[in-house]
Amino acid sequence: MAGNRTLTMIKPDAVRNNHIGGILSMINDGGFRIVAMKYLRLTPEKAGKFYEVHKERPFYGELVDFMSSGPIVAAILEKDNAVEDFRTLIGATNPANAAEGTIRKRYATSIGENAVHGSDSDDNARLEGDFFFSELERF
Ligand code: ATP
Ligand code: MG
Repeated sequence: MAGNRTLTMIKPDAVRNNHIGGILSMINDGGFRIVAMKYLRLTPEKAGKFYEVHKERPFYGELVDFMSSGPIVAAILEKDNAVEDFRTLIGATNPANAAEGTIRKRYATSIGENAVHGSDSDDNARLEGDFFFSELERF
């Protein structure tokens, strides 16, 4: 059975461009409940750890630099079928391919600076939630 939680980050580009409010509004309108949330800046080490699966990819250095370039908002979101439904709400990795009405279509500027992260599996949603939040920070 599909899990009911996913992990998102509002990335540094969207924070810089004042889109925190717009993105949270789309998340609420999409039927997701906020279980946990914090505003923080990742160090390059922490950003590198979060995206470790991409370590061998040519864009890894650029991705780590970008994700540690300014503050982000991290949140655990709850809804039935959370991982898949949130990936639908955010749209394709490359905003040029993102569907109308998706967060990336509205707010992303490029494939690298694409406004939001969404977990890609229930297992990663759990690991990523634990990366940012203790049990006492979840409601
Ligand atoms: P995310 O994991 O952030 O939700 P995603 O699952 O849609 O994004 P991934 O393949 O996991 O996409 O890539 C992780 C991130 O790495 C992308 O969101 C993007 O910021 C960056 N990235 C991916 N492909 C490229 C690329 N070709 N060039 C530059 N950056 C890229
Ligand atoms: Mg991914």
